[in-house]
Parts: sequence; structure tokens; C-alpha cells
Amino acid sequence: MARAKSYRTIAVANGIAADKAFGAVTPPLYLSSNFAFSKFEQSQDYEYSRTSNPTRDVLADTLAKLEGGSGAVVTPTGMSAIHLLLSRVPAGGLVVAPHDCYGGTYRLLAALKERHQLDVVFIDQSDSAALTSAFQRVPSLDWVETPSNPLMRVVDIRGIVELAGGSNVKVAVDNTFLSPALQQPLCLGADYVVHSTTKYLNGHSDVVGGAIVASDPVEVEALRSWANITGATGSPFDSYLTLRGIRTLFARVERQQSTALVIADFLLQHPAVSAVHYPGLPSHPTHGIAARQQKRLGCDAKL
Ligand SMILES: *Cc1c(COP(=O)(O)O)cnc(C)c1O
Repeated sequence: MARAKSYRTIAVANGIAADKAFGAVTPPLYLSSNFAFSKFEQSQDYEYSRTSNPTRDVLADTLAKLEGGSGAVVTPTGMSAIHLLLSRVPAGGLVVAPHDCYGGTYRLLAALKERHQLDVVFIDQSDSAALTSAFQRVPSLDWVETPSNPLMRVVDIRGIVELAGGSNVKVAVDNTFLSPALQQPLCLGADYVVHSTTKYLNGHSDVVGGAIVASDPVEVEALRSWANITGATGSPFDSYLTLRGIRTLFARVERQQSTALVIADFLLQHPAVSAVHYPGLPSHPTHGIAARQQKRLGCDAKL
């Protein structure tokens, strides 16, 4: 059996030298909106770029592999990925969400609640009593964001997955802040991972984009179908740039982590600074959970 590729190799090389047309080493950028039919009344892989596009598909495949999922849907923004995933919740279904989630996520959830499209409860997910009582209300989805933006609060993904498993609640994790280089929520038992690829995955501040990776292939198909129906599919050019950004993901994130620790230490000792929120510091209240779940170990590694 061939040795499984390392996640670093996937980031650097997935889709390289796979072009069937001319043997291009770098996956080509297919901007075309339409693809010519080879035969009358015969369906083919690519027909119209809202539905599917070869450049976007290489990005989706790379994200799915990096997260250990069975497939991914690439969306135009992180918020459209979140909206697409929330559309899987039945009308009026309950979503348990973090009280300190990203502002845009909060705004969307609060608006959907106000319109009675969803029921939402915002809680501190590190508070096990609050979690237990929210789960007694039989939610459809638990939304996790760890570390949270911007307060860097860390919650225990596996603990939440165990609680959810008993009551069939789906668990989605916004993994924007760590990227799969540092945390793989599906390997910890979550059902979905959501990204704003705008941030670390693209990493060059020149694309706004998003993605959902799901562990269940049936869910991937359902999300792909709804993305096609609603038009929430990412552009080929953005996909090309994001894939190009991912090539250096590990190198960037590793360097950023060592730099962040130096800055956090400096700020900790600075007389003008009253608090430093950085889970990498041993003095951070959730440093223990961060050290356990944020290691880059891969799906088959023991935690
Ligand atoms: C930026 C961000 C989003 C929203 O993504 P956009 O690409 O800006 O739409 C969602 N979640 C987190 C944690 C973010 O940082």
C-alpha cells in the first residue's frame, strides 16, 4: 500500500502535474463560463461554471484532503459558506452558537432568528452547565468557533462532539483562525468545517473566499447542490489564487506562530498592556485544551 501523503505534501502538491490537456504542472485557471458538449444529450463533468469548474474543484479537493473530509464546497466568501451551511438546518430548528463568535456570524444568526427562520441560543461553550441545558432543547446544529475571533477563547471540540453524539446534534466548527495546518475538527469528530479562506488559507490579503468541508459524502452532495441552486459558488480566479496561497500554508503558519509567541511575551511584560489573549501562552486559561487539540497530528494520531 502506498504511504499516505503528509498534510504538508498535500498543501504543496495536490493537483500538481495532473493536467490532462497539456501536462501543465500548475493546475490551469479555467475562466470559461461554459464548456463545449462533446455529444448531443450526453452529460459531462463540466458544463457550466456555476455548477462545477475544474479550477474550483482542485481547490475543493485540496481543502477536503487537508481537513480529512470527504468533499468540500467552495463559496465566494466566508459568510456565504456559513449561510449555506445554516440552510441545512430545518426551518425553525435550534442552533447553539458561541456568545463570542465572529461579528458577521453573530449578525447573520441574530437576523435569521429575528425573521423566525431559525431559533438560536448564544452561550459560553466552555460552560458545561450552559451546554447541557442548551442540548436538552434538542438543537439541530452546534456551531463552534475555536479559537474565537477576536478574543481567542478555546473550547473543547471533542467534548462538544461527545455531548452532541448522544442526541444526534450536528457539529460545525469555524476553523478559520487555525486552518487545517494546526487543527482538524473533522478528525476530532465534528461533522462540518467552515472557513473564511480570506484569512490564513489564502494568506495574501488579495481574495475574499470561503469553504465548507463535510465528513459525510451525502452532506457534501447536498451542500454542493444547494450552492449550485443558490449560486453560492466561488469564482475560478479566486480559487486559483487561494490554491496558490495554500502552497505555502504550513511555512507561513509555522513562522507566524513563532513570531506570535515573541510578540505575546513582549506584550505580557509591557506596562501599558493589561491583558494578552493568546492561547499559546501557558498562562492563558484554556492553554491546556489548545495544546491538546491544536496539534497537527492527523486523523489517525492519538490525542
Ligand atoms: C472573516 C471571518 C469570517 C467571515 O469570512 P468572510 O470571508 O469575511 O466573509 C467568518 N468567521 C471568522 C472566524 C472570520 O474570521
